[in-house]
Amino acid sequence: MTQTAASVQDMAHHLHPFSDNKQLKESGVRVIEKADGIYIYDNQGNKIIDGMAGLWCVNIGYGRKELGDIAKNQMDELAYYNTFFKTSHPAVINLSAKLAEVAPAGFNHVFYTGSGSESVDSMMRMVRHYWASVGKPSKTILIGRWNGYHGSTIGGASMGGMKGMHAQGGLPIPGIEHIEQPWYYGLHNEGETPEEFGLRAANWLEERIIEVGADNVAAFVGEPIQGAGGVIIPPSTYWPRIQEICQKYNILLVADEVICGFGRTGSWFGHETLGFKPDIFTTAKGLSSGYLPIGAVFVGDKVVEGILQGGEFNHGFTYAGHPVSAAVALKNVQILQDEKIIQNVHDVTGPYMQQKWREMLAQFKYVDDVRGVGLIQGFTLVKNKATREMFPNEGETGTALRDIFFRNNLIMRACGDHIVASPPLTITKEEIDLMLATAEKCIQEFE
Ligand code: PLP
Repeated sequence: MTQTAASVQDMAHHLHPFSDNKQLKESGVRVIEKADGIYIYDNQGNKIIDGMAGLWCVNIGYGRKELGDIAKNQMDELAYYNTFFKTSHPAVINLSAKLAEVAPAGFNHVFYTGSGSESVDSMMRMVRHYWASVGKPSKTILIGRWNGYHGSTIGGASMGGMKGMHAQGGLPIPGIEHIEQPWYYGLHNEGETPEEFGLRAANWLEERIIEVGADNVAAFVGEPIQGAGGVIIPPSTYWPRIQEICQKYNILLVADEVICGFGRTGSWFGHETLGFKPDIFTTAKGLSSGYLPIGAVFVGDKVVEGILQGGEFNHGFTYAGHPVSAAVALKNVQILQDEKIIQNVHDVTGPYMQQKWREMLAQFKYVDDVRGVGLIQGFTLVKNKATREMFPNEGETGTALRDIFFRNNLIMRACGDHIVASPPLTITKEEIDLMLATAEKCIQEFE
C-alpha cells in the first residue's frame, strides 16, 4: 500500500486502537473518505466492498441522507440535555417506546449508554445491584467465556475472554470467571454429535457454578453467537440447556447482543434466533447502524422490579440517551421496520449468502467449518482438514488472507484463523455475488 500525505499526517499525531502503531507508521493507513450502500471509498480512488459493515455495525448501509437530516433537526432543536436529575426529552422518550415495541415480550425498559463496552459495564454493575436490592448481596460473580468479546473498558475486557487483552493492563478484575467456548469444530470428542457437544459445553457452566457456589453467582454472560471470537455458533442444544441451568441455580442470564442485535441473525435479536430468553441484553452498534454512538441495556421486567426496590442506582453517563443519537437511532429502527430489512435477511439474503459461501468454499484445501446465520458468516483456515489440525502461530495465516482481501478491495476480518464476514443488512444478491467472486479470487491467490 502506498503512503499518502494524509496517511503520513495521520500517523504523525494519531495512535490507533487494536493496532501495532510502530508497524502502522511504516505501512501507513488507508484513508476512507466516503461511503455509500455497501461500499467505502479511499483517498486513492479505490471502491472497496465493506464485508464487515464497519465494525459489524452499519446495518442499514452507508449514505442514508435521512439520518443526517434527522440529526440536523435534532441539533437545532435540542443538541444536548441529560436524563440524570428528574429530566428527560422527546428524542429519548420516543426511542424508548420504539425499543419496547421491537423487543420481545417482558422487555419494557432500557438503560442508555454510549457504546457496547458501556452497555456491558452498566449491565455488570446492574446485575450486582439487582441481587443486593433483592436481599442476596453475596451473588456477585459473573461468568463469561474464553474468547468472548464484551468490549474494551476494564469491566468489558475482563468480562470478555480474550487472553491477549487480559495480558495487558492488569486484567481481569476480580469476581469474573470464564468457561470454555461452545466451539464444536475445535473441541468435540471423536464421534460426539453437535447436539451432544452442545449439552456438554453448557454443562461446563453448571460445573463452574457448583465450584464457586450458586449463592455467589450473579449472572452468566454470553454473546448468542460469539462474534470477535470467530463467529462461533453453538449447537442448537446449547442455549436452552444454559437457560435451564441459570433457572435451576437462580442466576441471571445475560445476552450480549452488541453484534447480534438489530437484525444481524435474521431476527431483531440473536437470542430469538438461538432460542432462549435472557433476563437482560446489551446492545449498541446496530441500534444506530453506527451513524452516531449510542448503546442500550434492555432490562427484563423481573430485574426492573428488583432494581426499583434498591433505591438510587449510582451509575450513568453524561451522554446516556443523547438527544441527537437517540433521534438518529429511532430513525434507524424505523428504517429497519419500514423497509422490512430484517425479514429480508431472514427470508432472502441470509439463506442466499450461506448457500453461496458453502458452494464457493468447498473447492479449497485449507478452508473448513463453513458456518453462518443470517448475515453473519465464518470459516476456519486449517492445515489439515482430515485431522482438524490448525496452522501454527495462531492468527498468522488468518491475517495473511485478510491482507490479501484488503489489497483486493474487500474488507473481511480475521479473528485468529477464523475468517468472518458481516456485511450491511441491505446487501443485495448481486452484491453478495460480487463479494464472493472477489473473495474466491483472493483465496485462490492465498492457497
Ligand atoms: N460486546 C460485543 C459482543 C461486541 O462485539 C463489542 C464490540 O465489538 C462490544 C461489546 C463493545 O462495543 P464497543 O466497541 O461499542 O464498546
